[in-house]
Amino acid sequence: MIFVLGIDAATWTVIRPNLDRLPTFRRLCQIGRCRELILREKPVSPSVWCGMFCGQTPAEHGHEGFVADGNIVRRQDIKVDFIWDILHREGRRVKVLNVPFIVPPYSFGLDFRPVGFGLPTNEREWQEELDRVTERTRGLMAEEPDLLISVYTLLDRIQHFHWGEGCVASWYQKLDSKIGELLFGSGFFKEKRNRLIVISDHGFCSFGEAKVRTLPLESGEGKLKGDHHENALLITVNLDYPIERPQDVFFALKKELGAG
Ligand SMILES: [Zn+2]
Repeated sequence: MIFVLGIDAATWTVIRPNLDRLPTFRRLCQIGRCRELILREKPVSPSVWCGMFCGQTPAEHGHEGFVADGNIVRRQDIKVDFIWDILHREGRRVKVLNVPFIVPPYSFGLDFRPVGFGLPTNEREWQEELDRVTERTRGLMAEEPDLLISVYTLLDRIQHFHWGEGCVASWYQKLDSKIGELLFGSGFFKEKRNRLIVISDHGFCSFGEAKVRTLPLESGEGKLKGDHHENALLITVNLDYPIERPQDVFFALKKELGAG
C-alpha cells in the first residue's frame, strides 16, 4: 500500500521549533526523508491539491479557486483524470478521503460527509474533523487498498484565524498524536512494502508577509492573522521517486503502482 497523508497548510515553521513535543513528526524525520517543498506556483489550496493528483500545472488544469464565475466548481467541471481515476480503470483498489481541491472536499470509492462543508470554523469543528478523518482513515488502512489518500484540512483554518498564537502548536500536537496512532499504532511500517508520503499544499506566514494574498484581510468570519506561504512540507518513507513539485506526487504514484 502507498499512503498519501495530506495535511493542508502544515509547515516546518511550526513543526521544527516544536519537535520536542511532536513525537510522530520526530520519528518520521528519523525513519524518512523530511524536507521543504518550495512551490513555484501560487500557494492556493484548490489549485495545488488538484495539480498534485492530476500531474498538471495550474496553466494546464486551469482550476484556481473553489468558486469560478460565481459558481462553486464541481469535480466534473475540472477536465482532468486524477490518479484515482486512472488506477481505478486499471483495476487497482483506491480509496480517497476528503481532498480539498473543491468544497466540500472530494472523496473517491467511499462516502464521507466533510465537517463544516470542508471549511471547519471553530474548535468544535476542528476537533470533529480530526476525530472523524482519523477514524475513517484507520478503517481504510485496515482494508489495505493499493493506494490510500487522506487529507486533514483543519490546520489551514486554524492558522488563518490564530497564526502566531500558542493554540496553533497545540493543534499540531493533537494532530501529531492522531497520525502517530495511524502510522505507528497500526503496524503500517511492519509491512516493508508499505510506502508513505506526508505532504502539505503550502506553508503559512503572517498575513502581511505573504507574497501572494490568498484571502482578503477581513473574511466573513473575522480578521485573518495568517496567510499561505510557498513553503510546503514533504516527508517520504520507503519512496525513491524524486518529488520536486506537487505534480510529482502524481508521477510517483503512477510509477510506483505501475499504471500505464
Ligand atoms: Zn491549503
